[in-house]
Amino acid sequence: MLAAPRDQFPATVQIPSALLFLGEIGYREIVVHISDNDLERYALGSLPEAELAPLEEHLLICSECRDRLEATEQYVMAMLAAAAHIRNIGTGK
Ligand SMILES: [Zn+2]
Repeated sequence: MLAAPRDQFPATVQIPSALLFLGEIGYREIVVHISDNDLERYALGSLPEAELAPLEEHLLICSECRDRLEATEQYVMAMLAAAAHIRNIGTGK
């Protein structure tokens, strides 16, 4: 069945855009989580603005990815701290 998914809902229903684009293959059954790579880029603040909005919308509705983001942020912070430490050793500071 390939009816336009949007037509099945009243116009007032808000569908998260991260799920909306999967409408044609059945967004009800498929939950796409944020990739580890994207979470890492988000934590580093290096995600392009175009990818930021759908990612943040997904975070609003998905506690699983919020937990993963928290873990990723801790990992990124630890990596940045370690990298800074190594750089400081390298420069003799
Ligand atoms: Zn998720």
